[in-house]
Amino acid sequence: MDSKTVGILGGGQLGRMLVEAAHRLNVKTVILDAAGSPAKQINALDEHIDGSFKDADSIAKLAKKCDVLTVEIEHVDVSALELVSKASSIPVYPLPETIRLIQDKYTQKEHLMDHGVAVVESVAVKENTAECLQEIGASLGYPFMLKARTMAYDGRGNYVVKSAEGIQEALTFLDNRSLYAEKWCPFTKELAVMVVRTVEGEVFAYPTVETIHQDNICHLVYAPARISDSLREKASLLAQNAVKSFPGCGIFGVEMFLLPNHELLVNEIAPRPHNSGHYTIDACVTNQFEAHIRAVTGLPMPKNFAKLSTTNTNAIMLNIIGDSNTHNGELAICRRALETPNASVYLYGKESKPKRKVGHVNIVGSSMEEAEAKLAYILGESASIPE
Ligand code: ATP
Ligand code: MG
Ligand code: MG
Repeated sequence: MDSKTVGILGGGQLGRMLVEAAHRLNVKTVILDAAGSPAKQINALDEHIDGSFKDADSIAKLAKKCDVLTVEIEHVDVSALELVSKASSIPVYPLPETIRLIQDKYTQKEHLMDHGVAVVESVAVKENTAECLQEIGASLGYPFMLKARTMAYDGRGNYVVKSAEGIQEALTFLDNRSLYAEKWCPFTKELAVMVVRTVEGEVFAYPTVETIHQDNICHLVYAPARISDSLREKASLLAQNAVKSFPGCGIFGVEMFLLPNHELLVNEIAPRPHNSGHYTIDACVTNQFEAHIRAVTGLPMPKNFAKLSTTNTNAIMLNIIGDSNTHNGELAICRRALETPNASVYLYGKESKPKRKVGHVNIVGSSMEEAEAKLAYILGESASIPE
């Protein structure tokens, strides 16, 4: 399996877990990111490129060492990727055109609407002025969500406009960024599905999961989602249809809102492994990182490889977020997880900072109740370690 070298733009935790999966298959990986980044820390097989994944020269240097390029982040220089792909004739997956569409959250929405995928009603903000936002407020109603079109993550480009009085503050908060607005979505749950697409265009869906956010950052993932089988299936089909609209191959994370009337709307799509798919490392036949490596290198993806390991597998993923009060305070959670049977701790080699994702814990049980009891101990909410 060692014939192809995969170049990865971005060396954060997703890159790190891609490296782990690739190495098990003797697939070599070369990383483009700052020196010492999490993916480089565990990969001494090759000389990596120290630089930015937004820099054309660095991307060209990476391409020289690789047979295929991929990304662990969508905020890359797409034009440079296109040039490199033409000049070197090595494939880039996901396709640069897909990354371009997705990295602007508003063009992503337009694309999905054009392909009949249900999304939250959205409008482009033509000018960052109070008048323009007042018009939008009058048409979408309050509250509405103002979002930066690009470079957004962990809710850092979002602002809830509660009333016309909040417009000035919203404009100050999002400064000079290119913006769009979304109707407020009174969801009952947030769902997500990882979907992997082969180079032939066949798609495989991982189970539908439920994500719980705190302060706009993913806090917990329940796999499978605690909803009816038919709703899980409906979410899975919506996610698969959304991913089928993007040519090229690789894994995609599809975030969705479940409304009180059981309607489902796509929130956004990530063209890469995704936080909501970390549970797959311990709970599925093949994890999301290996699925992506297999897809972009053309390795086999047999039927059922994206399924939960057994029919009664239940999992919870807990993100480890940098403690806001005590430096490294979050390690107390990891310590309790290490004491807990069937819990696995993943730390990313990142310096702890408040609100930064520094690791995650996967808890696997034969029922959700069992996984929940373990979670309660790990979070310090119950005193005794469940069996
Ligand atoms: P990510 O880290 O997932 O890339 P992001 O910065 O791109 O995050 P979004 O996914 O757009 O942000 O929004 C973050 C969270 O804010 C959502 O998971 C959801 O909880 C809430 N949210 C987003 N859009 C809406 C909306 N239109 N109505 C209500 N809540 C919303
Ligand atoms: Mg996002
Ligand atoms: Mg999101």
